[in-house]
Amino acid sequence: MLTRHGCTINPLTAECRVAREKIQPYDGIMADEVNRLVILGSGPAGLTAALYSARANLAPLVIEGMEPGGQLTITTEVENYPGFERGIQGPEMMEVFRRQAARFGTRFLSSQVTAADLSRAPFELVTDDGNVRAEALIISTGASAKLLGIDSEKRMMGYGVSACATCDGAFFKDKEVIVVGGGDTAMEEATFLTRFCKKVTIVHRRNQLRASKIMQERATRNPRIAFVWDSIVDEIYGEQKTGVSGVRLKHSVTGALSDFKTDGVFIAIGHQPNTAIFRGQLEMDEMGYLKVRPGSTYTNIEGVFAAGDVADRVYRQAVTAAGTGCMAALDAERWLEARHG
Ligand code: NDP
Repeated sequence: MLTRHGCTINPLTAECRVAREKIQPYDGIMADEVNRLVILGSGPAGLTAALYSARANLAPLVIEGMEPGGQLTITTEVENYPGFERGIQGPEMMEVFRRQAARFGTRFLSSQVTAADLSRAPFELVTDDGNVRAEALIISTGASAKLLGIDSEKRMMGYGVSACATCDGAFFKDKEVIVVGGGDTAMEEATFLTRFCKKVTIVHRRNQLRASKIMQERATRNPRIAFVWDSIVDEIYGEQKTGVSGVRLKHSVTGALSDFKTDGVFIAIGHQPNTAIFRGQLEMDEMGYLKVRPGSTYTNIEGVFAAGDVADRVYRQAVTAAGTGCMAALDAERWLEARHG
């Protein structure tokens, strides 16, 4: 089962743990050191940016963040990343990315940035382990799928619960699944899932959809899509070994509880870009996604670049994140080169 989003539940494999231990960690922050390039986040965007910039001799420092490896580390199998013909486990894939970046001199700091001052150069980043200064900065802090917040969702994430239909839909061939949410994402995910699933039921907490008219029409016209209104998923039944077997629904008006049989649960209640610490400094859209100059990774601040899901509310795929990570490294390299002549 594969899923890109959610909470950390899958431990790294023994093989990955050994590989991780072999990589030299960054051996301490020096107060007066100015790093040429700091990369925030260690998902596909951050690690691809690290690979490219390390190969350009920039010795990037990756601050790994709260979820090292990013959303793919809560994935089991990844089948849609080109180059892995038979698929690969998400955590293992991120270890491969990490080792590849480390091979060319990337340094890693296992810490989290809690505040940033981008008002002057060098940029100053406050981490749990001290302040880090950077001449250029690539922000690839990702976006997190919003989740329901129930224990069974956490337990079954990657085992029948998913927050990404594009990633996981194919695992539910001829199955019956539910999609939770009433926005455009829920309609899009439900419509996409009908390519594989026998039946898709959209469970929405109100009796009116938030989705745009066209997306609503597309979903309601689809004979494989059904709706359950005024309901929230209160509990997910199943075991990791056998997958999801059903959910308990709670009526949002009456509070009545009922059981609903299903093979899978797709959570589609929105995403939250991880940009809170940049509010008021970097330009963002109304949802908090960083704005970049079209066709580039330049933000509104010179020397600050954005890559991956943090600047992408549309595609949100590992491969697109890696692509923009490469762009950010090239943009940063050229920007630094122009500065130093
Ligand atoms: P939205 O915020 O638009 O919708 C989220 C949905 O999830 C709402 O229906 C909301 O219910 C429901 N929800 C939120 N929290 C919970 C919860 N805790 N429990 C149950 N239900 C919950 O997010 P989307 O991701 O759907 O869309 C985000 C943006 O991206 C929108 O601007 C959308 O138009 C755009 N988008 C466009 C697409 C396209 O054009 N192809 C595809 C996908 C997204 P309620 O309605 O009651 O608030």
